[in-house]
Amino acid sequence: MVAASEAPLRLLVLAGDGIGPEVTEQALRVVESFAPHLGRPLEISHGLVGGASIEACDEAVSDAVVAQANGSDAVLFGAVGGERWDARPVGRRPESGIIRLRRDLDLFANLRPAVAYPELASASALRPELVDGLDIVVVRELTSGVYFGQPRGQETTADGARRAFDTQAYTDAEIVRVCRAAFQLALSRSRRVCSVDKANVMETGRLWRAVATEVGREFPDVELIHMYADNCAMQLIRQPKQFDVIVTDNLFGDVLSDAAAMLTGSLGMAPSASLGLPRPDGTTLGLYEPIHGSAPDISGQGVANPLAAILSFAMCLEHSFGRPDLAARLGAAVRGALSQGFRTPDIMSPGGRRVGTTEMTDAVLSALAA
Ligand code: NAD
Ligand code: MN
Repeated sequence: MVAASEAPLRLLVLAGDGIGPEVTEQALRVVESFAPHLGRPLEISHGLVGGASIEACDEAVSDAVVAQANGSDAVLFGAVGGERWDARPVGRRPESGIIRLRRDLDLFANLRPAVAYPELASASALRPELVDGLDIVVVRELTSGVYFGQPRGQETTADGARRAFDTQAYTDAEIVRVCRAAFQLALSRSRRVCSVDKANVMETGRLWRAVATEVGREFPDVELIHMYADNCAMQLIRQPKQFDVIVTDNLFGDVLSDAAAMLTGSLGMAPSASLGLPRPDGTTLGLYEPIHGSAPDISGQGVANPLAAILSFAMCLEHSFGRPDLAARLGAAVRGALSQGFRTPDIMSPGGRRVGTTEMTDAVLSALAA
């Protein structure tokens, strides 16, 4: 073997708060089961984030943890937040830990798959035939746009009105890199990209559309269409299977990816990946997390669905560990557990076998072993 292939894969685990540690602990059982098959040694370390970190050092994430994440191949993230820290000002809350990680690691491409499992078709708010077989990914720009643009603020005008303002701004380079990530992804899928903007009414939308078109020329084998964001929201509900990869800005992506995730039924099933630029050695640093939060209403009861966390590790296998083959095996094992009828309460339906967090993971592990 060449030396590079013996270098360890470094995985940093940031479990966070509430059900974060509960589902992450289960995902780690799956990680351990893959360790012998990765072709490289796996080095797992743990750090604090969110409320857990605030308790320890009064910051939602420490410089040391950010540096450790930067030196890793991947970060497995649980969830952050809880009532105990709700009174803290914005910027001092648990959520600022994840926001800082995304920004400091320059994780600009947020991938949110929406996959409808036939076993859970009845969990969707849409008719089963509309979602059966659904397999789309929303690629959301994550580190720029209106959530970061300056100036922003609130003021009182001369005539006494309260006025608030945000700035939506994008550079061409910011659009290029996220569009490239989307086209790359499409190459391994159905080779169709839908770029979403409001080019009819926004300057950033006009630039977005022009740049997406330019990037599209680099990928002649991928079909590119453009759609206005409001129409895309409507089409996601009307005929979601028309899409393969959707790429859009931070704000539209926030909204559209939540809508796309719920097409499939449960928050407890939806994973995500936040990726940076490919490194010189061809690897890509990624942060992998379920899209759900810390779910204080069910925390400590052993009933949280671990599949979103487990599927987040599947995305890690594909995008940071370079093992799409193992990612596919893990996806199949999750489907296997579902088709055997195992259901956590959030996805329970008549005839299902009601299980808790640990038993659901047991079912995935035994499907992997089968
Ligand atoms: P949430 O995602 O935590 O919970 C929403 C609902 O979905 C709850 O009823 C919860 O019980 C259920 N749910 C979520 N994940 C589940 C799972 N794995 N299995 C079964 N049921 C599940 O959102 P929320 O209630 O709006 O927020 C709770 C806390 O989490 C807040 O402090 C919020 O700020 C934080 N939050 C964090 C993140 C993150 O860490 N990225 C994301 C969203 C919310
Ligand atoms: Mn959101």
